[in-house]
Amino acid sequence: MITHDESRMIRDTVAKFVKRELIPLEPLVLKRMAKGMDPILPPEERARLEEISRDIGLWGLEAPAALGGMELPATVMAGVFEEMATTCVPYRLPPDSPNLHMLQAVANETQRQKYLPGYCSGKLKSAIAISEPEAGGDPAAMRTRAVKDGGQWVINGRKIWISNAADADFTIVMARVGEGKREEGITSFIVDKGTPGFIVEREIQMIAAHKTYEVVFEDCRVPESALLGEIGQGYGPMQLRLMMRRLEIGSMAVGHAQRALDILATHALQRVTFGVRLADRQAIQWWIADIATRLHASRLMIADAAARVDRGESPRNEISMVKIFAVELAYEALDYAMQTLGALGMTMETALYPLWQDARLMRIYEGPTEVHRQAIARRTLRDYA
Ligand SMILES: Cc1cc2nc3c(=O)[nH]c(=O)nc-3n(C[C@H](O)[C@H](O)[C@H](O)COP(=O)(O)OP(=O)(O)OC[C@H]3O[C@@H](n4cnc5c(N)ncnc54)[C@H](O)[C@@H]3O)c2cc1C
Repeated sequence: MITHDESRMIRDTVAKFVKRELIPLEPLVLKRMAKGMDPILPPEERARLEEISRDIGLWGLEAPAALGGMELPATVMAGVFEEMATTCVPYRLPPDSPNLHMLQAVANETQRQKYLPGYCSGKLKSAIAISEPEAGGDPAAMRTRAVKDGGQWVINGRKIWISNAADADFTIVMARVGEGKREEGITSFIVDKGTPGFIVEREIQMIAAHKTYEVVFEDCRVPESALLGEIGQGYGPMQLRLMMRRLEIGSMAVGHAQRALDILATHALQRVTFGVRLADRQAIQWWIADIATRLHASRLMIADAAARVDRGESPRNEISMVKIFAVELAYEALDYAMQTLGALGMTMETALYPLWQDARLMRIYEGPTEVHRQAIARRTLRDYA
C-alpha cells in the first residue's frame, strides 16, 4: 500500500524530470515539426533520457513487482500521466501501460514468461489491432476472422489506424471466431513481428505527427499458443484495456490543459493592450476561471474513477465521462491560450500548437466523444426505463 507522501513524492519527481529534462527539449522538437520533420528525439537524446529515468526510479512504474516494477495503483499513475503530458516532447516512461493491463488480465503462464519481462523493461514494443475500415467507433462490427486449422489459427482480414504496427515486436489482434454476432466470438491473439501473412500495407500520416498503419492479414498462420485468453471471450479484456487507456488519456488531457493555463496566465500578466494588462480583462479572466474550474472537476473525476479501478471495479461509465470532459477541456483550454497569445499563439515557438493537435486526436481515438456520449446516455436511460 502506497502512502499519500510516497504518492506525492513520485509525482514531484516526475514534475521535476519534465521541467528539467523534457521542457528544455521543446525548441528542438518544435523546430523539427516546423520543418515538416518527425518530432522524434535523436537516439542519443532518448538514450540519455532513459538513463536518467532509470536512475531516478521512473521505470516500470506500472509493471508487476515480480518483474522489478513498482506496480503503482491507478490513483498514483494519474498524477504521473498528467505531469508527463504537460510537455509536447514525445517521451514516454515504459512500459506502455494499456496492453500491459490486458496481458496481465488474460495471458497464460507461457505468454507471461515470453512477453512480460521484455515488455516491462521497455525492450519489447506492442500494438493493438482492433479498428477496421468498417468498424472503428463500433468495434463489435469487426470482420477479421480467425479459423482453426489443425494446430494453428489462420487469420484473414484488414485493420486500419493501428499505432506502432510497423515497429511493434508483437501485436494483439482482435478477430472473430465462429458465427457469433457483435461482441460474441471476438477473440484476441498475439501475433509476433515478422509472422508471414501479417502485412503492414501502408503508413498513414496523421496530424500531431502521429503515424498509424493499415495492416492486412492474408492467411496469417499463428500457433495455437498465440491465443490470448479464451476463445470468444476477447471483448471483455479488450474493454479493460480500452478503459485503462481512456483513464490515461483523461490524465494526459489534464496535463495539456494545465500547460495551456500556465502559458495563458503567464502571458496575460505581462501583455498590455490599450493600456491594460490582458489579465485585467474580463474576457480573459473568464477563460482562466473556466479552465481552472474544469481542471479541478477533471482531477476529482479522475481521482474517483482511478480509486474505483484500484478497488477492482470496472467504472466504464465514469471513465467515459472523464474522457469526454477532460479531453474537451484540453482542446478548448489550448484554443483559449492560443487566442490569448495572439500571433505568438499561431507560431511553432510555443508548445501550444502540438498539444492542441494532440488534444484533437484524443477526441477520436479510444472512442470518439459522441460514441462515449451515446454510451453514457444509454446507461443513464436504462435507470429510467
Ligand atoms: C491517432 C490515432 C491512433 C489510433 N490508434 C489505434 C490503434 O492503435 N489500434 C486500433 O485498433 N485503432 C486505433 N485508432 C482508431 C480509433 O480507435 C478509431 O478511429 C475510432 O474508434 C473511431 O473510428 P472511425 O475512425 O472508424 O470513426 P467512425 O466510427 O466512422 O465514426 C466517425 C464519426 O462519426 C460519429 N459517430 C460514430 N458513431 C456515433 C454514434 N454512435 N453516435 C454519434 N456519433 C457517432 C462521431 O463523430 C465519429 O467521430 C486510432 C485512431 C487515431 C486517430
